[in-house]
Amino acid sequence: MKVLVINAGSSSLKYQLYDMTNESVLASGRVERIGMDSSIVTHEASGKSEVRSVSEILEHTTAVRRVLEMLVDPHNGVIDVISEIDAVGHRVVHGGEAFKQSVLVTQDVKLEIRNLFDLAPLHNPAHMMGISAVDTNLPEVPQVVVFDTAFHQTMPRESYLYAIPMVLYRRHKVRRYGFHGTSHAYVSVQAAAYLQQPLESLKMVSCHIGNGASCTAILDGKSFDTSMGMTPLEGLMMGTRSGDLDPAVVPFVMNKEDLSVSEVNSMLNKHSGLQAISGLSSDMREITEAMQEGDKHAQLAFDMYAYRVRKYIGAYAAAMNGIDTLVFTAGVGENSSILRKAVCEGLTFLGIELDEERNNERRKDVRIISTDASRVKVLVVPTNEELLIARDTFEIVQQQLQSP
Ligand code: AMP
Repeated sequence: MKVLVINAGSSSLKYQLYDMTNESVLASGRVERIGMDSSIVTHEASGKSEVRSVSEILEHTTAVRRVLEMLVDPHNGVIDVISEIDAVGHRVVHGGEAFKQSVLVTQDVKLEIRNLFDLAPLHNPAHMMGISAVDTNLPEVPQVVVFDTAFHQTMPRESYLYAIPMVLYRRHKVRRYGFHGTSHAYVSVQAAAYLQQPLESLKMVSCHIGNGASCTAILDGKSFDTSMGMTPLEGLMMGTRSGDLDPAVVPFVMNKEDLSVSEVNSMLNKHSGLQAISGLSSDMREITEAMQEGDKHAQLAFDMYAYRVRKYIGAYAAAMNGIDTLVFTAGVGENSSILRKAVCEGLTFLGIELDEERNNERRKDVRIISTDASRVKVLVVPTNEELLIARDTFEIVQQQLQSP
């Protein structure tokens, strides 16, 4: 079975075509600047070099058509005919309380995703455009939606409720949902398999730390708590997001600086985090380089970022009455040995002991970076959200085909 994985944004669309017989990626690419006259399609067939073209792509239906053209292109394509695509899996950011797992797209599912537009106004409408574009281009092909929030639907009420009037939860579903669920789910399964232990037996904290960042407490194989909230703004300090702050700061700053709701929203989401503290960049590589050259602001940004991660690991160890597995993933978690060291240095009381040499190794596979004596196993697990989307899509469509 061949599965096309799509991550549709408002002006971009990323794709990967998987052959599920061996879970290999046949081709991948992206369409950028959708809606503009000079849209860019970048396509890479496995084993070949990347090709790039510029053309006018005004909406998602045309973007998906261009992707399909690339996939069957005589020079850079990887399939002979479009009908070789058996299923399409979409990443959807917000599944609210309606979706606790990945599901086949039906009219009801589309309606539910539309009902969630309020909770994810920047993301869900774009995902719907992706789904409609596939409906138009591949009307016979089953589609599956995989939600960033679904993994966290197992959180207990004490984790997901805010201590604000309950009427806001009942009326508007104001609660914590958590994000990066596909990544946390994927790396937890990979880590347990690597350790050759049942996932259900582990008390794990997974740290998905990249440009966006979140920590999740995983107990009995399920999300017990996670650091992002109703939106991805809560929790850790991120590239451009503030993470946790006293909510009273918002009206105070709005008042003092005469800011509108959208201005304060933009400040907290786009002009805070590493970017704001360093005054330099939201990119951890640049922060680290500047810090190593003696830049004090970059040092502070790095220290604050690491401190927050450490604090959440400690909190989640308390929440689960212990921790035996700590996982680092995503851009920073997978690549920055110096950040991992800074986080773990203050956690020796929990039985976390990094092996300097293992931590400094530059590898792209799953690996342990703690010492043999460390009570907590610390792992680096490269995330692969697209593969999990492809797997869920494959399983759901297989079940559908087998059901009478
Ligand atoms: P992601 O959002 O998962 O793609 O992660 C992006 C973040 O990972 C950016 O802040 C990058 O600077 C960071 N990153 C990628 N490679 C490295 C590296 N070698 N060292 C430090 N940070 C890195």
